[in-house]
Amino acid sequence: MMRKQIFKHIRAHYKTIKGYSSAGMESGKDESKIYLNANENPYELPNLEGLNRYPEPQPPALLEAYAQNYGVDYTQICMTRGADEALVILTKVFCEPHKDQVLISSPTFGMYGVDAMAMPAGVVDVPLIKKDGRFNIDKENIIKQASNIDNHIKIVFICSPNNPTGDSFLHEDIIDICEALEGHCIVALDETYAEFSKAGSMVADLDSTPNLIILRTLSKSYALAGMRMGCILCGDEDFITLVRNKVMDAYPLPRLSIETAFHVLSPEIKAIAQDNIKKILAERERMKIELEKSDKVNHIYPSDANFLLIEMDKAKEFCDYLADNNVIIRDFSSQKGTENCVRLSIGTIEENNQVLELLNKYNNLPTK
Ligand code: PMP
Repeated sequence: MMRKQIFKHIRAHYKTIKGYSSAGMESGKDESKIYLNANENPYELPNLEGLNRYPEPQPPALLEAYAQNYGVDYTQICMTRGADEALVILTKVFCEPHKDQVLISSPTFGMYGVDAMAMPAGVVDVPLIKKDGRFNIDKENIIKQASNIDNHIKIVFICSPNNPTGDSFLHEDIIDICEALEGHCIVALDETYAEFSKAGSMVADLDSTPNLIILRTLSKSYALAGMRMGCILCGDEDFITLVRNKVMDAYPLPRLSIETAFHVLSPEIKAIAQDNIKKILAERERMKIELEKSDKVNHIYPSDANFLLIEMDKAKEFCDYLADNNVIIRDFSSQKGTENCVRLSIGTIEENNQVLELLNKYNNLPTK
């Protein structure tokens, strides 16, 4: 049952092609053996021990650490180079070029559309509904569009908490969408910001929701953006095996990224990362209160992530003013749905204070 749900949507050739079998996969690694099978250079350079060798594609010890961290079985995980690579993989596995489409709900993370267009696959947008000062998914319309067979929608991307709007969507609504679309398509839930959120993850729903795939990353909550470590989580282990063996590159994860991820998921470092999340959340609340005092700020959208979407007068001018003072935030004012908005990532207390000071100065500038 589980298997059928996901496999039904996989592009036909992926079911039959043979994946690449690397030298490492064929021979394994054993310290007592001499390996002359992978055209590696036998001479390690100083202070770069082990880097002359290709890394294991999905090291079992790290898979186990991910499994414990995310609360799934290691057979339900495929580790990727950031959630970014996970998005490319899903698009590639499910979307037939020039035929299939993905569904997004704008304003949302831009890479869903970019990856689709690279296939090329089409993009159907069912925009978020803006009501009472917050954004929500248009559940009925998503179901309607994605179940219309003429639309050939293979993946519904839901980002929760959503970037750039910041809020999470109700788990019940996401489950309703998954259930209504069973047999029609995959629901890819991007939980890049889940560790910051009160709503929390839907990982516990994976086993009972056969068309749900979840994407996670160590980039944000574990402060590891520079190492590019993310993953695909799916209740269907056959799908995970297919991705690992037939879709991923031969040696996808850099050795240093593997080692660092392992280190970060150790209990001591994880505890520090969790403390930092608390600091970021406290700062997010403080910044919201302080920013709302400004006459220039018209609205701050509710956030369940590590950033705030701020609607203000002359958003672009404010971004430029901050940039002139060496503080870079993201201008979203020219994008549909986030007109007059800027997105501010929550920094350290000192960095945030600098934003507040500059806002104060900006407030007092003579109007142009
Ligand atoms: N999804 C969302 C919603 C994001 O905001 C980002 C990064 N900004 C990504 C995925 C990619 O994250 P990673 O660093 O894990 O590739």
